[in-house]
Amino acid sequence: MRLVHTSEDRIYLYHLKNMLEAQDIQCVIKNERLSSIAGEIPIVNVWPELWVKDNLKEKWAKEIITEFEKSVVEGEMWTCENCGEEHGAQFKDCWNCQSIKAF
Ligand SMILES: [Zn+2]
Repeated sequence: MRLVHTSEDRIYLYHLKNMLEAQDIQCVIKNERLSSIAGEIPIVNVWPELWVKDNLKEKWAKEIITEFEKSVVEGEMWTCENCGEEHGAQFKDCWNCQSIKAF
């Protein structure tokens, strides 16, 4: 297995996992339960980790993640799923109804 990404945002990692598995890249998330090792390791070192099961797919997985993160940064307009308001990519939630942007 290969570590391809780590983030303090578990929801975000699950999104990446779903995205990779849609491309037939099987993944697992580790360190999801911080409490099991809390006390032994400083908390910053136990962020959830996304691992790819097949070592041969590591590079491919990283490319998908890189592309995805680039698209988030460069961004396009997005439309709030709740109220239909349009926003620039830099906004993470809807100013109109406070809904969180769906990935
Ligand atoms: Zn909205």
